[in-house]
Amino acid sequence: MSRVLVIGSGIAGCAAALGAARAGSDVDLVTTATEPRDTATWWAQGGIAVPREDERAFVEDIVTASDGTADRATVESLVGDARAAVEDVLVETAGVDFDRDGEEYDFSHEAGHARPRVLHVDAATGQSIEQRLFETVARRSAVTVRTDTAALDLLVGASGVGGAVLEGREPIRAGGTVLATGGIGGLYPETTNPPGATGDGIAMAAQAGADLADLPFVQFHPTVYLDGETLLVSEAVRGAGAVLWNADGERFMPSVHPDAELAPRDVVARAVARERDRTGRVTLDVSAIPFRAEFPGLADRLADRGVDPDAGIPVGPAQHFLCGGIAVDERGRTSVPGLFAAGECARTGVHGANRLASTSLLEGLVWGLRAGRAAAGSEARPAPDPSLPTRDPDLPAAFAAEKRRRLQQIVGEHLGIERSPAGLKRAVSALGRLRGELDAYTRTRSSRSLNQLYSATITAESIARAARATDSVGTHRLEATRAD
Ligand SMILES: Cc1cc2nc3c(=O)[nH]c(=O)nc-3n(C[C@H](O)[C@H](O)[C@H](O)COP(=O)(O)OP(=O)(O)OC[C@H]3O[C@@H](n4cnc5c(N)ncnc54)[C@H](O)[C@@H]3O)c2cc1C
Repeated sequence: MSRVLVIGSGIAGCAAALGAARAGSDVDLVTTATEPRDTATWWAQGGIAVPREDERAFVEDIVTASDGTADRATVESLVGDARAAVEDVLVETAGVDFDRDGEEYDFSHEAGHARPRVLHVDAATGQSIEQRLFETVARRSAVTVRTDTAALDLLVGASGVGGAVLEGREPIRAGGTVLATGGIGGLYPETTNPPGATGDGIAMAAQAGADLADLPFVQFHPTVYLDGETLLVSEAVRGAGAVLWNADGERFMPSVHPDAELAPRDVVARAVARERDRTGRVTLDVSAIPFRAEFPGLADRLADRGVDPDAGIPVGPAQHFLCGGIAVDERGRTSVPGLFAAGECARTGVHGANRLASTSLLEGLVWGLRAGRAAAGSEARPAPDPSLPTRDPDLPAAFAAEKRRRLQQIVGEHLGIERSPAGLKRAVSALGRLRGELDAYTRTRSSRSLNQLYSATITAESIARAARATDSVGTHRLEATRAD
């Protein structure tokens, strides 16, 4: 079996490392994370959805949430593997102790699901999964973990990818390289994601010539506490019975969608944005549910921010998830030999234009295992020595901060919840100019901050270009404005 390099230590990276190690490979897992909370996986609250002898209904819910754009065969393969992967890897191997109601699991109900099918650990499921899965993987003798280490670029030869260049270390050569670098929240001024989500894997794959797909489909979470440090208020809270009010005292969701607060995420997010603009404020009313008893972790985090849930939780939409990414097949293979991808940076076809709640952890787990296994069987291939410059490694902090602000301003203005053709055109040229300015720096320096900025800019430009060529569907909504 080949040596495998896995980049990223969230659920997808850990599952890939496990899949490759189980297949007999030696695995290097490199991650910018210094602790589990540096992954989006750690932040997941609601849980992980699994079928309950209702595979067909689960498939339908995923396809419906996607506006009919998800790839049905791919969804069926996800749902078919779901229960076994969760039981085997999370429960039996990692020891995640999902909440129970007597002998049975305590399944919670989330928006877009026809019935309760979400496994959870309180409303802090991700913490438990990430902590235990990472420890399990790191304990395996075949896996070498390097934390606080960024992959800066891929080693690309004539026959494909043969490893990666790392920050401050020798490059790692591998037969199979798995990208599991997570999402793109760092491109946006307001996001639920942890700070390291800068689209690094997507940019590295694009530069290696790999196909990307479904990039316009950026999901915004409808109920995020935005004043100061952002805090996602899980869909499970609406699933339990919380409702949304505008500042005029109207419960607006019943007139927007028959499922009211449990409508698909993009529908709720757009309605919340509209009502905030129109009336000034939207609050989530938790008075009908035993909020503190059912969501103690969330109640504590709100208390830390000085929010009294009894008075209604002020909420608004924030960037949350990228449905598209690096195009992969059912085994996690990209269009470039030797390169694999899994998790949020990958586009499997499961989410189409919009993701159903609590299916991302599941997708990362299932495709992580598959990509790790496939990478283990990938032949070693010659790759050139890295060409990255190593002198003058520090990017002046003020330079990076100013460019990041500009990037986020362009992305927030033009690649948000509602977009316009004219805005997308402006975004493409503004992001192209920014990339041009950064190009000059990347020729003389390599550092993590420069790399993250450059990756974020390349990814944003790719999203803007793809969005310009895509009609309104799912999370990608084009509004004609007077300026168009
Ligand atoms: C607040 C919040 C709540 C959520 N709730 C849910 C939920 O209830 N259910 C659900 O299914 N989904 C949920 N999601 C989405 C889900 O958590 C993520 O989509 C999923 O965890 C992504 O997993 P991943 O392994 O792909 O990426 P991550 O978990 O983000 O891991 C990415 C890893 O890549 C590393 N990395 C990045 N760039 C580099 C680089 N250049 N070099 C080396 N390492 C790098 C990072 O350090 C990190 O270790 C939630 C997301 C958020 C933010």
